[in-house]
Amino acid sequence: MTYPKLEINLRKLQYNAKIEVDSFSKIGITIIGVNKVFNGLYETAEAIVNGGITVIAEALVSNLKKIENLHCEKALLRSPALSEIEDIIRYADISLNSEIDIVRELSKEAIKQNKIHKILIMIDLGDLREGIWFENKSEIEDFVSEVLSLPNIEIYGLGTNFNCYGTVLPTVKNNNLFISIAKELENKFNFNFKYLSAGNATSYYLIEQGLLPPEINHLRIGGLHQFGIEYAFGKYLDEYYHSDMDIKNFSSNLYILKAEIIELNIKPTIPLGELGFDAFMQKKSFIDKGNRKRAILSFGIQDIPYENIYATDPSIKVIGQTSNHTIIDIEDCLTQYKLGDIISFELDYTALLFACNSPGIEKSFVYD
Ligand SMILES: *Cc1c(COP(=O)(O)O)cnc(C)c1O
Repeated sequence: MTYPKLEINLRKLQYNAKIEVDSFSKIGITIIGVNKVFNGLYETAEAIVNGGITVIAEALVSNLKKIENLHCEKALLRSPALSEIEDIIRYADISLNSEIDIVRELSKEAIKQNKIHKILIMIDLGDLREGIWFENKSEIEDFVSEVLSLPNIEIYGLGTNFNCYGTVLPTVKNNNLFISIAKELENKFNFNFKYLSAGNATSYYLIEQGLLPPEINHLRIGGLHQFGIEYAFGKYLDEYYHSDMDIKNFSSNLYILKAEIIELNIKPTIPLGELGFDAFMQKKSFIDKGNRKRAILSFGIQDIPYENIYATDPSIKVIGQTSNHTIIDIEDCLTQYKLGDIISFELDYTALLFACNSPGIEKSFVYD
């Protein structure tokens, strides 16, 4: 057993995915299961596929490669780069697109590989990340018109995204605007979008109020089943919750970071000597609390920022971090910690993202 270690509960993940798939399908919504926070872990993708998810999305094509043998459709959750078209066609069935030059290249490569590639056409309604700007009507129409004519390219749906860059919340108003753009395109080109994909886990906030327009039949979701709460609103779930979805039955606390005590002693709480800057050019200030018992854990800023982890023993206080060390105050703990003991932390989305991307943190799976 090596530490630091991230434990991921696959039973809870599968269970949450199943509740999510079941409750969203009850209201006519198909979902893509987003695996990007796990940096391409096969086991987490497999767990949500076992829970009923049929499409897995990753942000990197290298991560789609890792789940190549998983039995489901695969989506690239952003626009392909011109330099990676061959791999996109090889490893992704679906990608998000808003640049016609890229779709042309996808078409050429799809012909070469004798594949059909599906694209989700992205419209930007104001969040200012990907997508054709919603007011550029003729650009949107030209895009759709050409895509309809490109060989080996199929339109998966029309998509938009909220809350990622601009933190724009999904509302009835911007969802209806999105639907009206879709309808105009459908009338003009005489076809129907299979999916109107109006966002991510934050759209759950409209669903639970019964306000998501019924034309929206698709979402791309990660955070909801990964955390058992909508993390942006999690704290307020009780206030917001009044829909008949089963989401209250979600399991939470799916992730535990376990780190080993590598030094334990009693030291002063203020450094001794003249103070300069640390390696991150930060000047620090300290409060004198006398001598206190403290311990060093074997992970640091390069792995996970301490602001995003929460010790399961609430009397532990993280007092600071350097690249490879995390220092905790254990003076007030009832447990008599000793060298080699394991300290556990819960993680928020940011910490989970960092942990999964840190080669210094072992990933392990539990099923209890
Ligand atoms: C990350 C992402 C999602 C999923 O977001 P969650 O908050 O995890 O549900 C959906 N769509 C796009 C384009 C994304 O980048």
